[in-house]
Amino acid sequence: MVRIIAHLDMDAFFAAVEERDNPRFAGFPIVVGADPKEGNGRGVVSTANYKARKFGIHSAMPISTAWRLADIGVKKGGKKTVFLPVNGAWYSEVSKRIFTIVCKFSPKVEQVSIDEAYLDLSYLIDLNKAKEKMGQLKNEMYHQERLTATVGIGPNKLIAKLASSQFKPDGLYVVSSQEITQFLESLHLEDIPGIGPKTLEHLRKVKITSMYELKQKSETELRSLFGKWGEDLYRKVRGIDDSEITLEREIKSISEQETFEEDVRSATILLGRIEEIAKRVFQRIKSEHIKGFKTVTIMVRFSDFTTKTRSQTLSQSTLSEKILEKESFKLFLPFLDARQNPQKKAFRLLGVGVSNFKGEKQEESQRSTSYTQIGLFSS
Ligand SMILES: [Mg+2]
Repeated sequence: MVRIIAHLDMDAFFAAVEERDNPRFAGFPIVVGADPKEGNGRGVVSTANYKARKFGIHSAMPISTAWRLADIGVKKGGKKTVFLPVNGAWYSEVSKRIFTIVCKFSPKVEQVSIDEAYLDLSYLIDLNKAKEKMGQLKNEMYHQERLTATVGIGPNKLIAKLASSQFKPDGLYVVSSQEITQFLESLHLEDIPGIGPKTLEHLRKVKITSMYELKQKSETELRSLFGKWGEDLYRKVRGIDDSEITLEREIKSISEQETFEEDVRSATILLGRIEEIAKRVFQRIKSEHIKGFKTVTIMVRFSDFTTKTRSQTLSQSTLSEKILEKESFKLFLPFLDARQNPQKKAFRLLGVGVSNFKGEKQEESQRSTSYTQIGLFSS
């Protein structure tokens, strides 16, 4: 049977919820994230609405940069940007209501994050019917929640996701099997999930700057350039993706991090923070009913924003808070001396994470837990 998959992604979700709930912010650029502290704040942007994106503000950007861009926006005649804290518990509530609506439209829904899902619409058989259904979903979402989503529809998850990412916000777009080649060639290399700055640079060195050029490379060539990732690339550039809709949400990693109000150099303070962050990670391990972890990762960001991660995989999985703390310390200690920090830089951020969990899959514990658990250290 031919598969029909839809990818639904809420538009600027956190900012859209704030705009809806606070009519006085309607029509303004909105940035949800860390406290900007008049431009001296140290965290990052979580979500920017489309008006704020026009100023060049985007998620994961330092909040101080966002503040500066907002300022420039005002000087150029734009509206003043509204900066708001992340109200995660409330967004989770709204997310639950959204997924109640989404689940009415397909018996198979995979929740990817707090505001993103794949729906299996193969039962509709016809692409036009699938499009009509998703139009109904978008209408219902707007009438009940006053929120918009973008939906991409295609023969697999990859194409559906690419379609939704290209037609934001409030879009609804179908890519049929016959249209895949043309659709993919219209994209930029960096639109493909997994192609980041590193791969892009690598590709540029071998004179590949477009999807068309990438497609001319054989699987063997790509494998020799990128190893296993080259094989994935070979498939992606052709729109091939057999991955199934997974009904239980697999938690692959848990991480917590902390951005300091001021750069820190004191070893005592830093080790204290590592201990504290490791404790928070362990609480999450418990609340997610993880049976054991094998890999411990720490992340450090220096005052100059260079970021390093270090991992240690244990010989067997453990469920011990003491071991988590001890391994985190061991990974961090080289950063306190010349081994990993010869220039004696100060620290801006620390993170601790665990992965490589015991047992293949975790039971889906909650539909919409904290969005911070999606990906190790994603923000
Ligand atoms: Mg979204």
